[in-house]
Amino acid sequence: ILATPQPVSAEKKQTYIIGTDITFAPFEFSDSQGKYVGIDMELLERISEINHVNFEIKPVGFNAAVQAVEAGQMDAVMAGMTITPEREKSFDFSDPYFQSGIQMAIAKDNHTIHSYKDLKNKVVAAKTGTESAEFIEKNKQTYGYKIKLYDTADVMYSVLNAGNVDAIFDDYPVIGYAVKQNKPLQLVTDYEKGGSYGFGVKKGTHPELLTMFNQGLKELKASGEYQEILDKYIEAPA
Ligand code: GLN
Repeated sequence: ILATPQPVSAEKKQTYIIGTDITFAPFEFSDSQGKYVGIDMELLERISEINHVNFEIKPVGFNAAVQAVEAGQMDAVMAGMTITPEREKSFDFSDPYFQSGIQMAIAKDNHTIHSYKDLKNKVVAAKTGTESAEFIEKNKQTYGYKIKLYDTADVMYSVLNAGNVDAIFDDYPVIGYAVKQNKPLQLVTDYEKGGSYGFGVKKGTHPELLTMFNQGLKELKASGEYQEILDKYIEAPA
């Protein structure tokens, strides 16, 4: 006798805990109603619907999310997390879903910094545990700046405005979005080509989550929804 497949009831849906960044627009941020929105959040929402699972979003900050997953306290990171060989030692990643890179921003009223060479004796900031942090650490000797690291972008942008740091580094779509939102920032250098974002689980755990993510992503790409979500948050090229 073949059992008729039953629709999965809401109660029976498995819930996974997903760690994310606090402010990483256009990928994750709160809208005016306090709802968590952005490209990553909409992709996850659709992928959870396609797979009949629940994702409980924990906006704890990028580094905190990475550490919570490494410690087995959360199931996955969805936070514009770049897939890198270093991270692949402790994480398994989904298929890449967005090609990124990092870029420098300075205050809008700064007229003295035109290139990395002008950073000598200046203070340069990035978020703890990010690709940007790694980049500024690697280039510190070459350009002779000091480094300050912050846990969240909010704090980093406000210390830049206050003049406590001279330049910040963050992912270029995020910095570009901030400029478009008329934050008092400007770009004076090109972005550094970087890796792609992936949804990450602790190495050796939750292969089913990666399968669901990849399958969902494939469907969203095929249906055009993936592109619609991107276009909604990032201006489509004319
Ligand atoms: N893509 C960058 C990284 O993986 C930054 C991610 C973030 O700040 N949310 O390090």
